[in-house]
Amino acid sequence: MKLLAGCALALYACGGDLASPFSAVAITFDVNKQAFKLAQVRLNSLSSLRHLRGSAGDVTAGGKVRVSSVAARASGATVESLRSAFIKTQPSQVEIAWNVLNDIVYPEDFASLELLSTYYNMEKARAELANLGLTTLPARPIVAHAELTNENGISPLPDGELYYAPMATFFAPATTAQQAVPPAFNLGAVAHALGHQAVEELVWGGTPLPSPETGTDNEARHIARALSEGVGDYLGVAVSNDPHWFDHSLQVEPAERALDQIHCSSQDMLDALPVDDATAPFDPYPLGSVIASALWEEASATTAQNTSRGVLAALGDLGTKAASGLTLAVILDTLAAHSPDDQRADLCDIFFNRFEQMGIKAADLPSCGKAPLQRTECQ
Ligand SMILES: [Zn+2]
Repeated sequence: MKLLAGCALALYACGGDLASPFSAVAITFDVNKQAFKLAQVRLNSLSSLRHLRGSAGDVTAGGKVRVSSVAARASGATVESLRSAFIKTQPSQVEIAWNVLNDIVYPEDFASLELLSTYYNMEKARAELANLGLTTLPARPIVAHAELTNENGISPLPDGELYYAPMATFFAPATTAQQAVPPAFNLGAVAHALGHQAVEELVWGGTPLPSPETGTDNEARHIARALSEGVGDYLGVAVSNDPHWFDHSLQVEPAERALDQIHCSSQDMLDALPVDDATAPFDPYPLGSVIASALWEEASATTAQNTSRGVLAALGDLGTKAASGLTLAVILDTLAAHSPDDQRADLCDIFFNRFEQMGIKAADLPSCGKAPLQRTECQ
């Protein structure tokens, strides 16, 4: 009877389909209240609500994926070749069930609400990046609930990560009792994932892995990872306007990545760069946090949108410079070069202070063009 009542209210929702724009109820995060809630949102990019296809990416569900880090590193590997090698069982087309009341789409069950919310957060994060100047980022597949494992039987994605670069695919894990909030509902986590995609596509040319990953230079490899986490963490906070988005989805030490506190580089971070991962696996998040928090400090003190535009504009330039190697100094100098003119001196002073322990000096950042002020936060 429930189904019949739904059909009577909105016939097309039962057999037919719906395309954007329309209003719907989805799971969103209220930054002021620091709470997730059901809210009425606008979906602007779906060509099919029933199957969640749209210009922000097509959502599918299920399937089995077994990745191999060796295969991802093999010469000649492409995103396409890795997708066909790694996908053991294809994901299925999704079927959204909904009712329409007063021109608002109400998902009819939790699965439909979950998948629609996943699409909505992707659409919103992509729209925000487009507002900030990144209009060329291609939509990539969004696969929910896949059984995703590596050669050790565990997910290749760390806690809270959604983007698996070698397959250029977003994987939204099934909701579990252990998770505070599924990262696919967390706008900051989705924007962080888009940051990874942007770095992969704009800096590393859309290859399965950054070029240092297939080389022998440990330092270059680790800098590339820290750059990606730093850009991701910055964009996660900038897009969600929530310096604590980590708290909602990460189980382990989210406060260490919060950006409303100062992060200083250290001699330990410098010493860790050349060490082989077989000796001590490199943790890219702390150095990424130093990069992200330096940018966020400048952004939140001035006009965040302008800082964000500069960060996104710097990625293409870093792509040009990648052929000759991306050192920490090159990365910071490029970010400074693309900073708005009226923010550059202040951003440079922050960089000089935060990265002093890693040996960054005035001569390393020629775009800063002056002797730095002697800030003391990280001394
Ligand atoms: Zn990440």
